Amino acid sequence: MRLRIFNTLGMRKEDFVPLRDGEVRIYACGPTVYDFIHIGNARAFVFMDIVHRYLEYKGFRVIFVSNITDVDDKIIRRSQETGLSIQQIGEIYSEAYFNDIEALNIMKPDVCPRATQHISEMIEVIQKLIEKGFAYQVDGDVYFDVSKFEDYGKLSGNKMEALEMGARIEVNPKKRNPADFALWKSRKEGEPAWYSPWGWGRPGWHIECSTMAMRYLGETFDIHMGGKDLIFPHHENEIAQAESLTGKPFARYWLHNEWLTVNGQKMSKSLGNFITVQDALKMCSPQVLRFFLISAHYRSPLDFNKESLEQAKASLEKILNAIERLLSLEERTKKGENEDALLSQVYEAKKRFEEAMDDDFNTPLAIAAIFDIVKAINIYSSKERQIESTTKKEVYGVVRTLLEDVLGIKIETKGKEKPRSELVDSLMNIILEFRQEMRRRKEWKISDEIRDKLRKIGVIIEDTPHGTRWQLKEV
Ligand code: AMP
Ligand code: ZN
Repeated sequence: MRLRIFNTLGMRKEDFVPLRDGEVRIYACGPTVYDFIHIGNARAFVFMDIVHRYLEYKGFRVIFVSNITDVDDKIIRRSQETGLSIQQIGEIYSEAYFNDIEALNIMKPDVCPRATQHISEMIEVIQKLIEKGFAYQVDGDVYFDVSKFEDYGKLSGNKMEALEMGARIEVNPKKRNPADFALWKSRKEGEPAWYSPWGWGRPGWHIECSTMAMRYLGETFDIHMGGKDLIFPHHENEIAQAESLTGKPFARYWLHNEWLTVNGQKMSKSLGNFITVQDALKMCSPQVLRFFLISAHYRSPLDFNKESLEQAKASLEKILNAIERLLSLEERTKKGENEDALLSQVYEAKKRFEEAMDDDFNTPLAIAAIFDIVKAINIYSSKERQIESTTKKEVYGVVRTLLEDVLGIKIETKGKEKPRSELVDSLMNIILEFRQEMRRRKEWKISDEIRDKLRKIGVIIEDTPHGTRWQLKEV
């Protein structure tokens, strides 16, 4: 079946046809690295990862670019508050971001361009926009003239509304129209700056994304994504800049995720109702958090509370228990009478899973299809204690592909633990004693680094009141 995607540009579901046969080029707006990401941000990044994974599952070669915004008002403010340079702030929080997305099993983008490493290309784009008459300079600032771009407002809706919104955002006598936006901002006291034909200054946020997207994906590419707050002005302005420059369509499909909410309100830094990914991972495993984040369709709000997280935990446990039951069935060499029924139920469920994902990435329906497999396994194992080894492999193969490869939920059952050897036990004791000593000396960074490095090779450690426990998991 063909994939259908809800395109914000046009506000309707469309058949997905990539520009180049067999290849999909995606740009996903990444984080502004001034703080740890919260689970609302994580909802956006996990959704982008689902799109990435499902397109690969369908056989496309995906080129996935996701930027790091490492120069921006918030970063500058953070640098002024802490006394750290914007480079230091950028390094600290981009590293934290990469750790968080890795914990959530989000595939690393093919390219993660940083805004500060593409300033000269941004200057070139701005210069061309001035030459073409789409932009103007006033006192070292450069603005985009929205009245020159006929299609302005085509993504976010009514043009007039957008203009009024612009008026509400910023009243600035330097601008020709209230909705004009800055491509280049002249230097202010204490701010980082780069030299340009208009004097010292820095680029605006919107030009960063347009420039980096075109640099890595070409003038026209397939998919552009982000949370719904980015529709206006960020993505509207990205379109205006890129399309004025090239005269060609910029991104062809625009996807935007809804909010993760708390008591119905958007989770955000400014409202103070946020939970960082790191804090959430003290409440549940990364698998449960990820499972929770995809438990609603990406265009529906998802409310975070203890009950909804508990529910996700219980649901995932049901799936993992069924897998455990399947794996612990004794293997035999001959097919039994209930195996054909099991296989046909599994393949029908797989088809429903694909239909759900083809219908604009409907993850809750896809999860419901996995529950059909769970039910089939449970019925089978209530009747039988044995299964032919090939049937077992086949059923496990389907569940593993759908759950791990597409939904990105790693299967961790007791049955998948690797055997330990005496030598490994002794080596682990040495490592854990050393880490314990680091903790006594309050060398938290080193002790956390040991924990993270062990996790990367599949050793999960847990600090308990009775000491540190460890177990080996499939990586
Ligand atoms: P930022 O670093 O603020 O640019 O945000 C990174 C991404 O997270 C953007 O795509 C935002 O739209 C998205 N985002 C921020 N808050 C939420 C939320 N509460 N729910 C879902 N997505 C969000
Ligand atoms: Zn962006």
